[in-house]
Amino acid sequence: GDFPIETDTIVIGAGPGGYVAAIRAAQLGQKVTIVEKGTLGGVCLNVGCIPSKALIAAGHRYETAKESAAMGITAENVKVDFSKVQEWKGSVVKKLTGGVEGLLKGNKVDIVSGEAYFVDANTLRVMTESSAQTYTFKNAIIATGSRPIELPTFKYSNRVINSTGALSLPEIPKKLVIIGGGVIGVELGTAYANFGTEVTILEGSAELFAGAFEKQMSSLVSRNLKKKGAEIVTNAMAKGVVEKEDGVVVTYEAKGEEKSIEADYVLVTVGRRPNTDEMGLEQAGIELSDRGLIAIDKQCRTNVPNIYAIGDIVAGPQLAHKASYEGKIAAEAISGHNSQIDYIGIPAVVFSDPELASVGYTEAQAKEEGIEVAAAKFPFAANGRALSLNSTDGFLKLVTRKEDGLVIGAQIAGPSASDMIAELGLAIEAGMTAEDLALTIHAHPTLGEITMEAAEVALGSPIHIV
Ligand code: FAD
Repeated sequence: GDFPIETDTIVIGAGPGGYVAAIRAAQLGQKVTIVEKGTLGGVCLNVGCIPSKALIAAGHRYETAKESAAMGITAENVKVDFSKVQEWKGSVVKKLTGGVEGLLKGNKVDIVSGEAYFVDANTLRVMTESSAQTYTFKNAIIATGSRPIELPTFKYSNRVINSTGALSLPEIPKKLVIIGGGVIGVELGTAYANFGTEVTILEGSAELFAGAFEKQMSSLVSRNLKKKGAEIVTNAMAKGVVEKEDGVVVTYEAKGEEKSIEADYVLVTVGRRPNTDEMGLEQAGIELSDRGLIAIDKQCRTNVPNIYAIGDIVAGPQLAHKASYEGKIAAEAISGHNSQIDYIGIPAVVFSDPELASVGYTEAQAKEEGIEVAAAKFPFAANGRALSLNSTDGFLKLVTRKEDGLVIGAQIAGPSASDMIAELGLAIEAGMTAEDLALTIHAHPTLGEITMEAAEVALGSPIHIV
């Protein structure tokens, strides 16, 4: 018998989807409450994007400190104090989650700590360990994210870990087996391989990322991982694990043979499932697809007109910037704007060695849709900046529509691909042609010139390759 608290818009989950939606809704004049059962920032800031990038950056520092002999630099006794690395990583996370709190408060969003449960399509109960409070709302935005899938044959424990465990290991493992060569497995594998761990990746399909990136891109990544001493077993089927006091024995099948491998830990990164169970969605009448995802329309609205869903719990790539993008759309839709989702400009990035990035169509996807395209490539090795960085592995591929040269996609494998992809996303969003990119003066010497040069290749008259 508590008194319900009334609000205009209630947001459930404060990850990159939810906190962005809450801020935008508040900016547009709504009275907003955000409910979070864990820590502000969600998976991305606490146990995802940010801490993984911090570990990857630290791994690179260590590796380049040891591997710069070609540039005339050698260092002795380069050491890693891993607890310091972890402490630093934690400080980065803390700064950002504290920042999110400040932003929410600055926008007058009410922050409520607890677990939300739907009573009906206008009512939520928020539970903490010691209390429960009812909220009534006009509109709700569900942004509860996802969690690692647990395989029945690999129950999580001290030694059988998921991405969260892998981000907070107390020491650098000597040996690490990773089940699943997707984005998360490859990124964490790269970080630890750079720290000196012997990494083995067991991937179920024929290549890393299971075909999500073009073969030429994924094979650059596997070649580099192997250079770091990693082993990659493709078409491998993980069977089971035996835990010992100080490690694990993982059995798997590859090429019709059963094998086993010892390691300190086994990291399972085989996908993430949406957090759409155990929150009373059925009581609000919200329908789920068979994979537990929530179906939405172009404005992120569920089948219940005043309830919206965004981020990892709806279809599409599980990416932070997709969640944030959808968050803005949902907040604007609630405010009566006719904003609609258009996924064409959503980039996908892997922070591997080298980095991979893709936006818009690949050549193959365009062909599948019957779009006549031309592809133009330019190698990093022909770029002065890449050479002066001693980092020349990779290429940029520009996909343009044949009839008019419209930029409809780009793929990059190479240093700073994660930053370079932004210009290509802009080109797609702005409806630019290869000529527009070629006519844009890029500073010299920069990696950005690679984009300009690929556009010149598309036009048939590149300066720096023949
Ligand atoms: P989440 O970030 O999962 O947030 C959901 C929040 O809802 C959580 O805080 C949760 O506690 C809360 N919640 C759940 N249920 C309830 C409830 N009933 N009541 C109250 N609160 C609830 N993406 C990228 O774009 N780039 C990257 O580099 C990247 N790296 C990653 C690395 C790792 C290791 C992992 C695991 C993920 C990575 N991702 C990356 C993916 C990214 O983290 C997710 O796509 C993103 O966090 C999804 O945002 P979201 O808002 O949908 O949900």
